[in-house]
Amino acid sequence: MSETLTPKQKKPCTNCPPLVVPRREYTPTRPSCIDCVEKHLGAAYVLLTEAREGYAYRLRAVGHLFEAEDESQEWPELHAALREARNRYQAAEEMPDWKSLEGMLIEVRQTVRQASV
Ligand SMILES: [Zn+2]
Repeated sequence: MSETLTPKQKKPCTNCPPLVVPRREYTPTRPSCIDCVEKHLGAAYVLLTEAREGYAYRLRAVGHLFEAEDESQEWPELHAALREARNRYQAAEEMPDWKSLEGMLIEVRQTVRQASV
């Protein structure tokens, strides 16, 4: 079990924006990046839909949901939805609403694309 929980050396995403956007009194720990949100959500999806058993999978799924939450702080609606999805899963192993999260991701991706044009 300890082996599966050892974090791998992470390569930083080359698409992550360099700027950490301060939000009121709370400054995010890292820049928001829609690509990373999608990556972590995808990893959580794989873990949760393959219906694997065991605490290690639960921890990894929760970890990925948290990373997605952490990387989406620039987009309050998506951030809140990811946070709620993680809390519900942690409280009652409730499946995240993948369809609605997907819709929000597509929306954010469009705004990010428009902003970078
Ligand atoms: Zn990134």
